[in-house]
Amino acid sequence: MNTPNVGGGMRQRSSVFGKLAAIMLAMALALMLITTGFFIALVQPTLHKQMSPITAHAWLLVLSLLVMSGVVLTTQAVLTKLLRPLRVLNEGVTRLGEGDLAVSVPRTTTDEFGTLTDAFNRMAGRVREMITARDRLLVDVSHELRSPLTRMKVALELMPDDVQRARLSSDVAEMERMISGLLELERLRAGRGVTLVRQDVVPIVRDIVTSYEDRPPGARFTTTGAREVFIEIDAEQLKTVMRNLLDNAVKYSLPDSKAIAVTVETREDGARIRVADDGVGIPREDSERIFEPFFRVDRSRSKESGGYGLGLSICKRVMEAHGGAVAFEPGSGRGATFVLGFPNGVDTSVP
Ligand code: ADP
Repeated sequence: MNTPNVGGGMRQRSSVFGKLAAIMLAMALALMLITTGFFIALVQPTLHKQMSPITAHAWLLVLSLLVMSGVVLTTQAVLTKLLRPLRVLNEGVTRLGEGDLAVSVPRTTTDEFGTLTDAFNRMAGRVREMITARDRLLVDVSHELRSPLTRMKVALELMPDDVQRARLSSDVAEMERMISGLLELERLRAGRGVTLVRQDVVPIVRDIVTSYEDRPPGARFTTTGAREVFIEIDAEQLKTVMRNLLDNAVKYSLPDSKAIAVTVETREDGARIRVADDGVGIPREDSERIFEPFFRVDRSRSKESGGYGLGLSICKRVMEAHGGAVAFEPGSGRGATFVLGFPNGVDTSVP
């Protein structure tokens, strides 16, 4: 795995304290030189006669003020330079926190900040390795499980047609769905698995929404501004994303929920599809994690409440493969709103 800047290449040869002490010493020496110079000038008989004590005092004040301003400005400049690696490191930590696993912070100093940078890069590399290993394990296990599942399906066919067979069939079907979800997630990794064709998204989205009209709480479709919105999409994958979002909106709706609102919006920076429901909603603290595989707000998964927490992660991968993104839009009211954003290059025809 490529982990640039990772490892303890450079050793710690200097310390932040040493640098600060050297700078403070240099400033103290400069101060001593200035005050000594002033003192010598003041006690010189020629100058002494020419200058009244009030003028000398004013000079002393002005010079002290200049020296103090110099000290403050130099300290600020020195600290800004000294703490720069810490700011760069902070940016790296923030990016890693946001999920950018490719992050690597360049080491620019040989002091404690340099050591800290190395430690951070090693940690980021380790996290990358662990996540890759987890993904690989999931994919390998999914592949391995396909053959035993097929054998189980064949064995089920030979069983008497009773309640037990029906129950086992449903369990096997559930496992198959989970494994297909995992393999699909892998297939879509790094922009693979989509074939983009420039086409109008409006009829595609409208047709899907229409198929949800009769399922409580119902769904309605609108567009803002344009009747046709041509963008580069993989129609089948977009349908999967829309179905995942609409299935969730139906699943997490309440008896008194309003119909799910789906809108195709055209903007200068691209097209957006908004799916807004009026259901139980998603707690703000979970809104980042819902796109992670297997994450569920309500951990007590039941057959009725549905999935394995793979639907939204598949949506995320599909949208990334389109060069776009899916986002949860926090709102003030009830329910949850998801926005699919497609990149620039939209052709629209306004009615
Ligand atoms: P699942 O198959 O469990 O629904 P998803 O990946 O589709 O998996 O969603 C992850 C989790 O996000 C769900 O378990 C649910 O807790 C929450 N969630 C997704 N969509 C909605 C929604 N429209 N309203 C409320 N919660 C939602």
